[in-house]
Amino acid sequence: MTTRTHDVDHELIEAAAHVARTRCRGDNHTMAAAARAQDGRIVTAVNAYHFTGGPCAELVLIGAAAAQGVYALDTVVAVGDRDRGVVPPCGRCRQVLLDYFPALKVIVGAGDRVRTVLITDLLPESYVWADHQLDAE
Ligand SMILES: [Zn+2]
Repeated sequence: MTTRTHDVDHELIEAAAHVARTRCRGDNHTMAAAARAQDGRIVTAVNAYHFTGGPCAELVLIGAAAAQGVYALDTVVAVGDRDRGVVPPCGRCRQVLLDYFPALKVIVGAGDRVRTVLITDLLPESYVWADHQLDAE
């Protein structure tokens, strides 16, 4: 395996699991996410399901973090409700997370296989939006 691994932030997983256990309700909120800010703070969020494309917990998390003045995230993890454990980010979230936080670490894997990988490892040969804005300075 060529993916570089990092220590796993178990406190962060537990923060997301706690929100998944206590705040997810019915069909609208089924996933929780937690992020470790670069200053050490933990920010949490839940998804807002809607058939028109409501945001995943990771995307709500970006806004929730900004609302608290947190713009630099170090690590993120998502946990499913009903004890589903760590759930990897979907394709859309991988792209958004990469564009917002190119050096972000993401906790993935279930049970004994839980590990920390770089967002760039989850999206190889990725499209970098900023690189293709021809009118940008
Ligand atoms: Zn997603």
